[in-house]
This record gives sequence, structure tokens and C-alpha cells, in this order.
Amino acid sequence: MTGYKKILVAVDLSPEAKPVVERAQELGKHYGATLTLIHVIDPIITTGDYELRPELPLEVEHTLAERARGYIGALAQDTGIADAEKVVAVGSVKHEILSHAKQHGCDLIVIGTHGRHGIAVLLGSTANAIMHGTGCDVLCVRVGD
Ligand code: AMP
Repeated sequence: MTGYKKILVAVDLSPEAKPVVERAQELGKHYGATLTLIHVIDPIITTGDYELRPELPLEVEHTLAERARGYIGALAQDTGIADAEKVVAVGSVKHEILSHAKQHGCDLIVIGTHGRHGIAVLLGSTANAIMHGTGCDVLCVRVGD
């Protein structure tokens, strides 16, 4: 076991994000790994039968991205990792996390077991999708139980 070098932390904008980031911070410190916090803006609209992923008006996207940057910036500061890289992406949460991890050679993804989307229980949780979709290790931090 040589430890981890690049840790990707999936951050939603719920109060449960903090324990997830704290756990990643501990591991990053232990292994001397770099940390990247990623938040994905998912413009999904769920109707009875369909999931629609419409284009967000640019202005709305910018507002949401600014808000997300502010949130994850404050979270990084609070947890003692102000220097961590911060990424805000737009698209499918699972897809953006998986493709960032692959493209950047991350060797560990840290994710919460639950976030703010109660509907995920019906659709299959983000953590479950990440575990089955990546080739790297995944740490699921138990939150919100
Ligand atoms: P959920 O599937 O919504 O219960 O969320 C489970 C975990 O997935 C959360 O604790 C986060 O670690 C991650 N996650 C959920 N939504 C997002 C998002 N929009 N951006 C980044 N990570 C997310």
C-alpha cells in the first residue's frame, strides 16, 4: 500500500458536506495527498416519466456557480484546506465526478452516503453510482443517518 496522492471530494451544498470534507482532509494530511473539492450543478428536471437535462440560461449558471464557489470556498477554509483545488462543473453529478477522477488520475474519491436529494433513494444514490463506475478506491462517509 503506497497511500493516496490525489483525492477527489464530492461536495453537495448540504450540511452533510462538512464531515465528508473533514474525513478527506484527515486522509490528505495522513498521505500527503492533494485534495480537489468538486461540486456539480445538475440542471435536471424530473417529470413522471422522463429526466430532462436542459441547457441552463448562462446567467443562471453563473449565479449558481458563484454560489457554489462561495460555499465550497468557505467549507475549505473551515476545514483547514483553503488551498485545495476547487472545481464547479455543470452536468450529470455521476458523470462529472467520474470523468474528473479519470482525467486527473485521482486515486481516491471521497463521497457522502447521503446528501440533500431524498429522491436519490428512488433513483439510486450518487455514492452507489460512483462506486460502480470508477476504477479507483471510493470512501463513502456515513452521513445523515
Ligand atoms: P445523494 O446521492 O444526493 O444522497 O448524495 C450523496 C453524496 O454524493 C453527497 O454526500 C456528496 O458527497 C455527493 N453529491 C451529491 N450531489 C452532489 C453534487 N451536486 N456535486 C458533488 N457531489 C455531490
